[in-house]
Amino acid sequence: MVDRIPESGRARPGKNAVPAGLGHGAPQTPAQAQPGKTATPVMTVLAYIGLGSNLENPAAQLARAVAELAALPGTTLLAQSPFYASRPVGPQDQPDFVNGAVELRTELPPHRLLDHLQAIEQAHGRERLRHWGPRTLDLDLLLYGDQQLSDERLTVPHAELPNRDFVLQPLLDLNPDLSLPDGRRVDQLRAQCPDNQLRKLPPTGGSN
Ligand code: AMP
Repeated sequence: MVDRIPESGRARPGKNAVPAGLGHGAPQTPAQAQPGKTATPVMTVLAYIGLGSNLENPAAQLARAVAELAALPGTTLLAQSPFYASRPVGPQDQPDFVNGAVELRTELPPHRLLDHLQAIEQAHGRERLRHWGPRTLDLDLLLYGDQQLSDERLTVPHAELPNRDFVLQPLLDLNPDLSLPDGRRVDQLRAQCPDNQLRKLPPTGGSN
């Protein structure tokens, strides 16, 4: 079951398209705007973050990271998926991973959000020792509204998203109607993607 955090007055879009046309350039007037006063428009976007860990109590690493994501500036945590255990991708001489995903509404631009994700990874003692190797925390920006981005730092949607059941399943838990910006449905990608022996974990300490 997904933990959905109540947000007063929040419109729930049926897809990952951001609410009220946001992400297509339309500003969202802040709820606190006063009639007759000029308010600075705030753009918010629905973003999905993937979390993974296979070192130093992975489920606790993820639970802590969820709290840290919820505390990011200009950001509201809307929902978190259950956590899943899965076999590692790449080198098999490492522990199983624990993975999950969260849905955020954020004012942070995508590269600024990535800065924060990487700072949180660093705070969890993440070291990049080998490609696809073990890690205390991996945070991926999976989706950022309906935007498609690709530069030397950031590819959105995340390049591996369509191929990983441990990413697709938590996304489906968060939003069963989710589609990628190119129109591909996440449920169809999930049905087609390689099996990584995903196992849903029981909630830990009420945090997931
Ligand atoms: P990883 O080792 O899998 O955590 O990959 C980290 C690298 O991927 C960093 O250099 C990021 O700049 C880059 N990257 C590209 N696209 C993304 C994304 N959507 N989310 C997170 N990191 C990304």
